[in-house]
Amino acid sequence: MSARIIDGKAIAQHLRETIAADVARIAARHGAQPGLAVVLVGNDPASEVYVGSKARQTVAVGMRSFEHRLPADVPETELLALVEQLNRDDAVDGILVQLPLPAHIDTNRVIEAVDPGKDVDGFHPVNAGRLMIGLPGLVACTPLGSLLLLQSVHADFSGLSAVILGRSNIVGKPVAQLLLQQNATVTIAHSRTRDLPGLCRTADIVVAAVGRPELVRGDWIKPGATVIDVGINRLPPAAGEAKGRLVGDVAFEEAKSVAGAITPVPGGVGPMTIACLLRNTLQAFKARRGID
Ligand code: NAD
Repeated sequence: MSARIIDGKAIAQHLRETIAADVARIAARHGAQPGLAVVLVGNDPASEVYVGSKARQTVAVGMRSFEHRLPADVPETELLALVEQLNRDDAVDGILVQLPLPAHIDTNRVIEAVDPGKDVDGFHPVNAGRLMIGLPGLVACTPLGSLLLLQSVHADFSGLSAVILGRSNIVGKPVAQLLLQQNATVTIAHSRTRDLPGLCRTADIVVAAVGRPELVRGDWIKPGATVIDVGINRLPPAAGEAKGRLVGDVAFEEAKSVAGAITPVPGGVGPMTIACLLRNTLQAFKARRGID
């Protein structure tokens, strides 16, 4: 058996088209346009790529994009002042401070400085708390994207067991909360879990978010299970290669022959993250302005 490949690129494109149509409808009816501000501190090459791609996709769906670049040695107070200015700016509906931040900046302090109503990353404790107690709010983009991919396979999660590998605040924990809300029976595993392979083999759904290249092997997967691979890992370059290959946290070829459905890396969860950022920006815009 070979698993169905969950096409994150196509699902993300469809989501962006839906968002673009809604943005156009709102512009025609209300003459208003959502705006997303992205703040980049320093010049980490991976962050540069993400920020560029976020700006392009924001404009492509008809929203306004505001980019703010600060030097790597910017004092924390200056970054906090910029966040405060964006909180007050009525043209800005969503604020995203690209992580990771340089070591001299307290990331939690910056996250908490963002107005929860504009927190399109869904990292503010108010939004994390709302997710935890089942109130509407802004949900972190990668977990939300992972759920949408799972919903392309499963109409109902009742009775399904989900094992989440990884307990980070930005992926593992919110994915677990979302699946719990969907009535799955959820187990969160992490670096101190015993017998990870045995635990995974019990799961109808595996979400891998550990950042360890190809940790999850084919024989960890229950036949027919759905596998969402959040990991993005670059392998060292092989002989003759300029750059190493990108792989996920799952050994794709092995898992593909056992799973019922699986996301590839790249082309799975990755494209969903920015599409969900745009979805969150539209949600924040509508909530702030009372537009439906
Ligand atoms: P993190 O380092 O914050 O957390 C990793 C988690 O994995 C920790 O909870 C840790 O306990 C667990 N872990 C580590 N080694 C383990 C092991 N051997 N066995 C079991 N658990 C182990 O990472 P993160 O920010 O949650 O990201 C995880 C992965 O997802 C990374 O590869 C990252 O690049 C990727 N990611 C992708 C996207 C996307 O858009 N697709 C977004 C965010 C993160």
